Amino acid sequence: AKKYIVQKQFDGLPKSTDLKIVEEELPPVKDGEFLAEAVYLSVDPYMRALSDTVPIGETFLGTQVAKITQSKNPDYPVGKYVVGPFGWRTHAISTGGPFASGLPKVWIVPDPEGLPLSLFLGILGMPGNTAYFGFLDICKPKPGETVVVSGAAGAVGSIVGQIAKIKGCKVIGIAGSDAKGKWLVNDLKFDHFINYKDPKFTEKLEELTPKGVDCYFDNVGGQISSEVLHRMNKQGRISVCGSISSYNDRDVKAGVVQYDMVFKQLKMEGFVVYEWFDRWFEGIEQNKKWIKEGKLKYSETVTKGFDNTLKAFVDMLQGGNTGKAIVQL
Ligand code: NDP
Repeated sequence: AKKYIVQKQFDGLPKSTDLKIVEEELPPVKDGEFLAEAVYLSVDPYMRALSDTVPIGETFLGTQVAKITQSKNPDYPVGKYVVGPFGWRTHAISTGGPFASGLPKVWIVPDPEGLPLSLFLGILGMPGNTAYFGFLDICKPKPGETVVVSGAAGAVGSIVGQIAKIKGCKVIGIAGSDAKGKWLVNDLKFDHFINYKDPKFTEKLEELTPKGVDCYFDNVGGQISSEVLHRMNKQGRISVCGSISSYNDRDVKAGVVQYDMVFKQLKMEGFVVYEWFDRWFEGIEQNKKWIKEGKLKYSETVTKGFDNTLKAFVDMLQGGNTGKAIVQL
C-alpha cells in the first residue's frame, strides 16, 4: 500500500517536495473493520484550503471511491464500492460510520445505473450536492432571474449553471479561459460567458446584466466577486461557496464588499455542504435523474496513476481542469 504524507506545509502553490509517497504495511482486518482499495481519488480545492490542518508526517486528506476487498463489518460487504475520506492512499482500513470533526461517514455508492463510478466524487457526490443544495436552498432562484456563477467551468460551478437553466434563469458563467467559455455556452447552454482575465471584464459584466444580478453563486471570492456584488439587485441572494482565488495566497484582500452588502440589503450566506447530510441521497438521485433526462451534462479531467495525484491537484488549482478533476488508479 502507498500513501502521501505531509513533509512540509504548503506555501503558495503546492510543490512536489511538500508531500512524499511512502509505502505502508497494513495490519490484518479486525472485527468491525473492512479493507478498501482505492479506484478513484478526488482532488479538490478544499484540500488546499484545509492543508494546514494536516500535521507533518500525517496522510494527506482527500476522499476516494474504493472497492471493499476484505470485510469483518456486515454493513460494508466485500464487492461494494464506498466513498470515504481516507486520504491520498491506495488502501485503507476503516470501520465506516461517522468520522471525527464533523466529516461525513463512509457511504456506500448507490446504483450507478450504468454511469461511471468516478461521478460519485463529482456530479453524483460532494460537488454535485454542493451545487444542488448550495444553489437551490440559498439562492432560491426564480424563473427569469439573472444568475451569475464564478468558477463556472469547474466541478461545482458547471452544475450550478445548468441547474439555474433548469429553473428558467438567465445564466452568466465566469471562468479563466475562452475554451472553457465555449464549453459552457455551446454544450452546457449557459447564456453567456465572461473570461475573468479579459481586461474588459467589468464592461462585459455590465453589458451582459442589463437588469442587474439576482443570484450570485460564488466559488472564487476576491476582485471578481466584488465586481459581481456591485451589479446585484436589491434583495439579491449570494451563496458563498468558496474563495479559491485566495487559497494559495492568504494575503489577497477579499475586496471591499460591505458597501454593496449594506445599501442593497443583500443576503449573503456561507455554507458547508455537509449541512445537508440528512438529504445527501436526494441530491444524488435528482442530479442522476437530470443526467438521464439529458438536462445535466458533465465533464471530467482524469489523470492516471496514484503517483500523479499531487500533479493533478496542482493542475486543478491552476485551472487545468474542465469539470471535475479526478485521479484514476
Ligand atoms: P473546480 O473544479 O472549480 O476547480 C478549481 C477551479 O478554480 C480551477 O479550475 C480554476 O478555473 C479556478 N481558479 C483557480 N484559481 C483561481 C483564481 N485565482 N480566480 C478564479 N478562479 C480560479 O473546483 P470545485 O468545483 O471542486 O470547487 C469550486 C469552489 O467551491 C472552491 O472554492 C471550493 O472550495 C468550493 N467548495 C465549497 C464547498 C462547500 O461545502 N462550501 C464544497 C465544495 C467546493 P479557471 O480556469 O476558471 O481559473
